[in-house]
Amino acid sequence: MSLAAACLCGATRYILAEPIGDVVLCHCRQCRRANGGAFNVAVLAETANVRFEARDAVREFESSPGKYRAFCSRCGSPVYSRRDDLPGVLRLRGGLIDDLPPPRRLTEAYREDGWDWLA
Ligand SMILES: [Zn+2]
Repeated sequence: MSLAAACLCGATRYILAEPIGDVVLCHCRQCRRANGGAFNVAVLAETANVRFEARDAVREFESSPGKYRAFCSRCGSPVYSRRDDLPGVLRLRGGLIDDLPPPRRLTEAYREDGWDWLA
């Protein structure tokens, strides 16, 4: 089984092999800014399980040393992040994935940095 994913404009598309990895909801300030939302939905995936069908528009921004946040240069959708010290792992942006199934494990990070009025 696999899941389809696409950015807002469709210029970036990939297929993700199931089962999906852990999902992390990250409330840190960097993730909020990078995603324009209350938190980031990061789906952990081995790079080998992600098959890009279209990635020419993907650009990477080094948001801190050794950490790269990838986005679609046509529409601005966040696509994934990756770290030099975690090779072979992508943290996919969950909003791009069609019908994301419930993860085996869901965790939250930097909840104390998030909006305290958010339930
Ligand atoms: Zn796009």
